[in-house]
Amino acid sequence: MGLAEKLKHTVCSEVDKRLAELNDISEKIWKNPELCFEEIYAHDLLTDILEKEGFLVSRKTPIPTAFTAVYKNGDGINAGIVVEYDALPGIGHACGHNLISEAGIGAALGIKAALMSGEISGQLTVFGTPAEEGGGGKCIMIQHGCFDDVDFCIMAHPYVEDIIYHPELAFEHIQITYHGKASHASVAPWLGLNALDAVVQCYNNVSMMRQQMLPECRVHGIITKGGEKPNIIPQLCQLEYFVRGTTDEQRDELKKKVLACAQAASVSTGCKMEQKTLGHPYSNMLINNCLAKLFEQNGLKLDMHFKENPPNMVGSTDMGNVSHLKPSIHPMFKIPTAGANHTVAFTEAAIKPEAQDPTIKIAKCMAMTAIDVLCDRKILDAVNQDFQNNS
Ligand SMILES: [Zn+2]
Ligand SMILES: [Zn+2]
Repeated sequence: MGLAEKLKHTVCSEVDKRLAELNDISEKIWKNPELCFEEIYAHDLLTDILEKEGFLVSRKTPIPTAFTAVYKNGDGINAGIVVEYDALPGIGHACGHNLISEAGIGAALGIKAALMSGEISGQLTVFGTPAEEGGGGKCIMIQHGCFDDVDFCIMAHPYVEDIIYHPELAFEHIQITYHGKASHASVAPWLGLNALDAVVQCYNNVSMMRQQMLPECRVHGIITKGGEKPNIIPQLCQLEYFVRGTTDEQRDELKKKVLACAQAASVSTGCKMEQKTLGHPYSNMLINNCLAKLFEQNGLKLDMHFKENPPNMVGSTDMGNVSHLKPSIHPMFKIPTAGANHTVAFTEAAIKPEAQDPTIKIAKCMAMTAIDVLCDRKILDAVNQDFQNNS
């Protein structure tokens, strides 16, 4: 048996020893759902565990609910495991990020056991990344250089299918505000400038533009401010859009068109327009073929069969930004569920005992893939070559 295969056994038996502890992580996080940037409970839970396990933990880095944790055995390749733990408003862990934490910590403990064996040198960094659901925690961590020293990154996300090549769209959240002029809507409407008309005009312009959009692009919006009272000409009105494309360039092109629609509404109504980006733009996901192939082979050993064709239904993730910086994969793993991500059914599925088997398998698969690279620098060279070709 080769070294990598031997260490994969070490990894799997370590994860198997920890089943109860790992399940406990996802249960605790599920029972304490926390929104973007408020994940204090999850941050403390995960950093306490990793510290107890001998990781060098940088808590609250670079923001209060983010962290990095390093386990090192000599110099060598630095493998990254990424975890998320934020929930959604009103529906708790409807994206199953509690299971991402469990799988990530499971993988980390497995890789640590392999490093501890002394048969390979190298290191492992666990990235605790808050605010995936719109806040862009990973974007902030990238800006602070948190990912600079890692060689590659692996994260896995619960879903309705097992898919390695799951595309994710580049995304930007834009806010458009119109400043009009208030006036009595019956006594002197001609003295006002109607900001709600500007908003409605903008919404209609964008809706008409949609027919000419490429089918893979997305733009969807809501009106967030629509006036105060029917007898006052609305002075300040606002709408927000999510703009998405398959690449950052495509998203930027679409954003230009959306802003042209918004500008046209400003001209026709005489209202002053302002626009800004909320949070951080997310990049599309670049999937490292070399890591994906290794992941697929390791999955087969665990009786996981990944679907070939990427789905048409896609969202966005800040893991995309990581994938533009370092070779990365972000496979999706299936948990038994009666509904898709971001539904109450998925929240219920994320705490069921039936979610445990796939979460544990994916933890092993992540760790086994990291072991393949940690054991052979030539594999890292191939991973890097694929990254160069892709980006
Ligand atoms: Zn989500
Ligand atoms: Zn998610």
